[in-house]
Amino acid sequence: MTDPRYIGRFAPTPSGFLHFGSLVAALASWLDARAVDGRWLLRMEDTDPPREMPGARDAILQTLERYGLEWDGEVVFQSQRHHAYAEVVERLFNMGLAYACTCSRKQLEGYDGVYPGLCRNAGHAREGAAIRLRVPELLYRFDDRVQGRFEQHLGREIGDFVIQRRDGLYAYQLAVVLDDAWQGVTDIVRGADLLDNTPRQLYLQELLGFAQPRYLHIPLIVQPDGHKLGKSYRSPPLEVDQATPLLLRALRALGQEAPLELQGASPAEVLAVARQQWRPERIARQMSVPEVELR
Ligand code: GLU
Ligand code: ZN
Repeated sequence: MTDPRYIGRFAPTPSGFLHFGSLVAALASWLDARAVDGRWLLRMEDTDPPREMPGARDAILQTLERYGLEWDGEVVFQSQRHHAYAEVVERLFNMGLAYACTCSRKQLEGYDGVYPGLCRNAGHAREGAAIRLRVPELLYRFDDRVQGRFEQHLGREIGDFVIQRRDGLYAYQLAVVLDDAWQGVTDIVRGADLLDNTPRQLYLQELLGFAQPRYLHIPLIVQPDGHKLGKSYRSPPLEVDQATPLLLRALRALGQEAPLELQGASPAEVLAVARQQWRPERIARQMSVPEVELR
């Protein structure tokens, strides 16, 4: 079945190279789009220069290319989108939906990561302060295509959250919602490490009048020692000459068929077969991969 309206995206943060876990997420997102002849966009989430690793942007693009994960159109860089973020922060602040917070990290200790609203009604000036979005005392829920129903009470579990940091940098939550809407993204396929960020994003979408995309959160890969393979896992770049075997492993991790005949095929050939056979309902809620496969 084709769906010409489908727009998917991959949105890596250039704080490190792509590792096997990010390859699995990129592949799932690409397949989900290409299986219906949809578009697949690439967005570099470079909103945090201090956390950026030199050379990572180029390395990520090069790896995707070599692995045959071609994207449509120009790469969007969030570092070029500050004007759009600034305008929305300004608007939310002026409407009283967001406010300035001067709390230090120390002051927020002991609240289990839930912002206790200390600056809610303080009326601080914006200069040198972080900007927080007021959250409603409501449950936000959505139906994930793999994880099923997910819900979170924003007031009790998160509290008012930062949309612009004290150092002026824009928060991921804000940038991701604005850009997904601006790029017309209909389907978000990404790692389950972002599952509990989604309700904040649903609230922002609602507040700004954006349509809600569909979500598919890929389970995190659990290593044999129980550790999750996430962003903090510093790994070497995925090797170019390993593209075919690693794509086949990634397919297996996603519960898809990865016929042995494809071992000698090019990455493009593997992807051409995989997009015909994509069955997202075969993705398990949790996956583990033997250690050897992570290399
Ligand atoms: N930039 C985020 C990351 O690398 C992904 C954002 C998203 O897919 O929503 O974890
Ligand atoms: Zn505060």
